Amino acid sequence: MAKLTSRSEDYSKWYNELVTQTGMAENSKVRGCMVIKPYGYAIWEKMQAELDRMFKETGHQNAYFPLFVPKSLFEAEEKNAEGFAKECAVVTHYRLKNDPNKEGKLMVDPEAKLEEELVVRPTSEAIIWSTYKNWIQSYRDLPILINQWANVVRWEMRTRLFLRTAEFLWQEGHTAHATREEAWEETTKMLDVYSDFIEGFMGIPVVKGMKTPNERFAGAEETLCIEALMQDGKALQAGTSHFLGQNFAKAFDVKFASKEGTLDYVWATSWGVSTRLIGALIMTHSDDNGLVLPPKLAPIQVVIVPIHRDDAQKAAISEVAEKLVQDLKAKDISVKFDDDDNVKPGWKFNEYELKGVPIRIAIGPRDLENGQVEMARRDTLTKSFEKIEGLADTIEQKLDEIQESIFQKALNHRSEHTTEVETYEQFKDILENKGGFISAYWDGDSETEEKIKQETKATIRCIPFGEVDLEDKVDFYSGKPAKFKVLFAKAY
Ligand code: AMP
Repeated sequence: MAKLTSRSEDYSKWYNELVTQTGMAENSKVRGCMVIKPYGYAIWEKMQAELDRMFKETGHQNAYFPLFVPKSLFEAEEKNAEGFAKECAVVTHYRLKNDPNKEGKLMVDPEAKLEEELVVRPTSEAIIWSTYKNWIQSYRDLPILINQWANVVRWEMRTRLFLRTAEFLWQEGHTAHATREEAWEETTKMLDVYSDFIEGFMGIPVVKGMKTPNERFAGAEETLCIEALMQDGKALQAGTSHFLGQNFAKAFDVKFASKEGTLDYVWATSWGVSTRLIGALIMTHSDDNGLVLPPKLAPIQVVIVPIHRDDAQKAAISEVAEKLVQDLKAKDISVKFDDDDNVKPGWKFNEYELKGVPIRIAIGPRDLENGQVEMARRDTLTKSFEKIEGLADTIEQKLDEIQESIFQKALNHRSEHTTEVETYEQFKDILENKGGFISAYWDGDSETEEKIKQETKATIRCIPFGEVDLEDKVDFYSGKPAKFKVLFAKAY
């Protein structure tokens, strides 16, 4: 196996090599679409399982809606349609036939033209709200708290494995409420669910905030988001939760009879996270040796590698290893005892390091004599000897320690790469030479934001939540009175 390109040499090459060499994903024959391979999919499944649990704990149910959205439904909410129109795949025909001019080739059958084109969903508000119209008559039908696990298609021009693909996997929550307050509460609640998940489970620190109108989801009144900072100083939008107001209810004429007997439009939210989070995971924790996984997300949390010269040694080591496997399984810790004799221990060490297995246990004959094993931590690349007695407890503790430690490391990185600036000169200097989040005052004008984007490629990632004193503060670019304190960054 070839060594990975180092991050300092070429960060994006390192990223691509890591994704492919670990067996997480690869490019496919379809432009912009990837194949998620078993190791990458195992990580996605762990993420899904935890998120799904959290959604259900907050009262949501799963359902499934069609992949295709008839154009007339798609265009009903104008802003949403306009925002997504330029990246839609559209089905126009439903049949192929033999090409009379080319032997063995097929052609689109012109006689099989659809009466109405079908948009492959880039997001499902339209199809879902056209359905909710039939489900909602009175306040008794509310709230509707539904999540869908699905694939969506957005015809992205510049694609990157996991980070930005034309087809991606995600979940999308779509909720309907009787009041504005309740819909707002849902919007913020789901942002909290996301941040708890991403910080607590994936070990990635995030900033919670609000998007500016320029960056808002098409068709939303407000978009809340969580933003993460990658090792190379670029930001990544890790999740969004939209307050949709009554826009979709109005577009699809979804009204409900209130307790008081009045007829009112329904309030909506939608929220989503995608396979992009796997990209965030990689670019937050991993190093030049490969993937570093937070224990809670690792498909294999502990690997045991025996080191022996003969069958007698192997038998003795296996006995200890099998016992450890049982003890770890009893604690719900996923463990692999790799006793494959066809490959050398050194090869296995490299392989599990590349794949980010949090803890590696090596057991040799001398270790057995001493009643100990060698434990290697993937995150710090440090080794220690640990007693065989009570080893499962030691490992359990160590996994917790690693989970916490990699979060702290990422948090420190973010703190070190968040810089306050007051002038445009400082802004450009930081952007050029340091990267990361730049905290600065903004006049609230979309034009200012746009000019800065044109000149520097940096965008306002979010307006972080929290009180800020704006008295006497001015926009670093326009010099006008400040309305917000925001975080800028170049982003993926
Ligand atoms: P949105 O519906 O635009 O708010 O996006 C919902 C989630 O999907 C966000 O967390 C985005 O970061 C993510 N996302 C958007 N476009 C892509 C893409 N092309 N590939 C992967 N994830 C995406």
